Amino acid sequence: IQMKFSTKAIHIGQKPEPNSGAVIPPIYMTSTFIQDAPNKHKGYDYTRAGNPNFTNLEKTLAALEKAKYATVFSSGIGATTALISTLKQGDTVIGGNDLYGGTFRLFKKIFKKFGIKLIVVDTQNLQAVEKALQKKPKMIFLESPSNPLLKISNIRVISKLAKKYKTISVVDNTFATPYFQQPIQLGADIALHSTTKYISGHSDVVGGAIITNNKQIKQKMQFARMSMGLNPSPFDVWLTTRGLKTLAVRMEKHAQNAKQIAEFLDKHPLVKRVFYPGLETHPNYKVAQSQMKGYSGIVSVEFNLSLKDSIKLISSFKVFTLAESLGGIESLVNHPASMTHASISAKQRQKQGLNDGLIRLSIGIEDPKDLLNDLKTQLQLIHKKSSKQETQN
Ligand code: PLP
Repeated sequence: IQMKFSTKAIHIGQKPEPNSGAVIPPIYMTSTFIQDAPNKHKGYDYTRAGNPNFTNLEKTLAALEKAKYATVFSSGIGATTALISTLKQGDTVIGGNDLYGGTFRLFKKIFKKFGIKLIVVDTQNLQAVEKALQKKPKMIFLESPSNPLLKISNIRVISKLAKKYKTISVVDNTFATPYFQQPIQLGADIALHSTTKYISGHSDVVGGAIITNNKQIKQKMQFARMSMGLNPSPFDVWLTTRGLKTLAVRMEKHAQNAKQIAEFLDKHPLVKRVFYPGLETHPNYKVAQSQMKGYSGIVSVEFNLSLKDSIKLISSFKVFTLAESLGGIESLVNHPASMTHASISAKQRQKQGLNDGLIRLSIGIEDPKDLLNDLKTQLQLIHKKSSKQETQN
């Protein structure tokens, strides 16, 4: 039967366990599986190669991205590792210029040694993308919205261009989730997730996934997971499955809260710039509107504050927690230059617009009044302090 998104999130891949009738499939905490005769088994032989909890979550994730196959991994970076490992020496990948810092590190510090080259392109600029594709790279890797500047790339157009040049298109869909954006429906070959974030949603698990309609890619992902030991723990996968069931309600609330906060910050005198694809002033608002159903829960902001005051501000919040990561039910604040994107050199960060005053907020699902109060109060305190200093100077 045809199901809508929130119904699929709860029911697909979640059949009751037949032996006991348990409505919720149990956690299959086992490394190995009984065989009736060598290689005669029920489809599983060793958890590094597969496990019923993996299969269940893979069915749900594929259904939510409206695709055929998914493969789960130990982390988002594990999923990216599997993907890049399908390339060979001399191959080139085009990467968006605002990818997650750890994705850059993986290319630069690990795969470069093996002869895989990353060419960084501003994927908001379609002419630059086509020019780079003319060199026939093996893969184009985008993040939209990107981390942390919330840049939007045109997934439809880029996927079409990639097809023309026989390049595999990959979209890191971690920020939007399939609730707000479905890259494979927009024409991309692969959707990639750090399931650590919104998919699991409760900041209690690290995981990743690759989703595709391409059977060959699915087989390669399974092979990479088994061969390189990129498998998650069945318990982590079970937790992710549990979190995923509420994705639709969580995302609605994340986006509602984020919009309110983006609008509040946009008008605040201490704010230089707000980055949120749901604001009409976002440079790619029209593209965002054309490919997203909502704008998710991450808001980045550049304050008119010194580095010292920015750090003081983000260390003083009472409801927002200063921590890495995003996409959980609780609101987090992060300083990309010194935290999530510290693996990028200072020079490169500046080139990319990752200024020292930039702060990334992951808006949780708390009462928005409490979040706004926390921001208002701490901004007022900093404002008073900095104006006092100015008069003293
Ligand atoms: N992609 C994006 C957009 C991310 O934000 C992150 C982590 O912050 C990753 C990938 C990497 O995922 P993980 O931390 O699960 O390895």
